[in-house]
Amino acid sequence: MDKCVMIALGGNAIKQPDERGTVEEQMRNVAVACRQIAEIAKQGYKIVITHGNGPQVGNLAIQQEQAQDIVPPQPLVVLGSMTQGQIGYMMQQSLRNLLGEDSWEVVTVVTQVLVDRDDPDFVDPNKPVGPFYTEEEAKKIGEENGWTVKHVRPSGDRQWRRVVPSPIPLGIVEGKAIKKMVDAGMIVIASGGGGIPVIINDDGGLEGVDAVIDKDRAGSVLAKEVDAEIFLVLTDVDCAKLDYGKPDERPVERMTPAEAWKYSEEGHFLPGSMGPKVEACTRFVEDGGERAIITSLAKAVDALKGEAGTTISQN
Ligand code: ADP
Ligand code: MG
Repeated sequence: MDKCVMIALGGNAIKQPDERGTVEEQMRNVAVACRQIAEIAKQGYKIVITHGNGPQVGNLAIQQEQAQDIVPPQPLVVLGSMTQGQIGYMMQQSLRNLLGEDSWEVVTVVTQVLVDRDDPDFVDPNKPVGPFYTEEEAKKIGEENGWTVKHVRPSGDRQWRRVVPSPIPLGIVEGKAIKKMVDAGMIVIASGGGGIPVIINDDGGLEGVDAVIDKDRAGSVLAKEVDAEIFLVLTDVDCAKLDYGKPDERPVERMTPAEAWKYSEEGHFLPGSMGPKVEACTRFVEDGGERAIITSLAKAVDALKGEAGTTISQN
């Protein structure tokens, strides 16, 4: 049986920080990422892909705001589903162009991810989304829309942003369907942007909530649901580092879950970036995954061979 790799693509794989996000820019970046993924597919691995959507949702949020007198603005939860379709389209097309049409089926699944309505993050949201505002603008817009707004950066003209909860993912609603597709040999793109957050409401039904789930955390939950052996987290650094940004910064080639928790507690991996990646990888391995790897897109193929990146495994 071929091994299954769950690949989590970082935000910069689709939009670089200095780009505006034109369709040409995004298509070009997606093609670069897909070249690595095609290489992994050709080696015989089964593949599930998830990806970030921060910049795309940010741009859509601006469109909702600017056009609100002409077209009714859609809530964040709907913007999340839109970006899953958008990025899924780009990746499906790019992978098909790279792999040819014969033996590869590539599909995107619009994915809902279950969260707990009592998750503590709903009480004190901290994940910034959408455009930056002045304090005055932020308070007005927050009032009008019932949003929580917070002061999120120390300098610049606009220091305020909307903040939303970032609850812990509990399960993937479409997980069983995704597993069937992966077992049938399809390349599946799923849980984009961390998935569409849903809760179980008073009637026992699913209901979308305005929140953002960390894509690496959701990726590790999906990886377990599809029985992936390997969780491959691709970001903009080649590996996780100890004493990151300090003079004695050094790379971690391997760590066990126990070592990963210890380094995390010592504060080596920053919250909101490397922290959730290491945490998601560690949980994946503790739950029975064979190994998890953190590396850059360029080093993906080498890292799978054990020749680059940071590997987390039991031994
Ligand atoms: P992504 O879009 O891939 O999720 P993030 O910006 O969230 O990217 O996370 C990657 C970033 O994590 C790196 O660019 C780096 O600045 C930061 N980082 C924080 N702590 C560490 C660490 N200990 N080692 C390496 N990178 C770290
Ligand atoms: Mg991130």
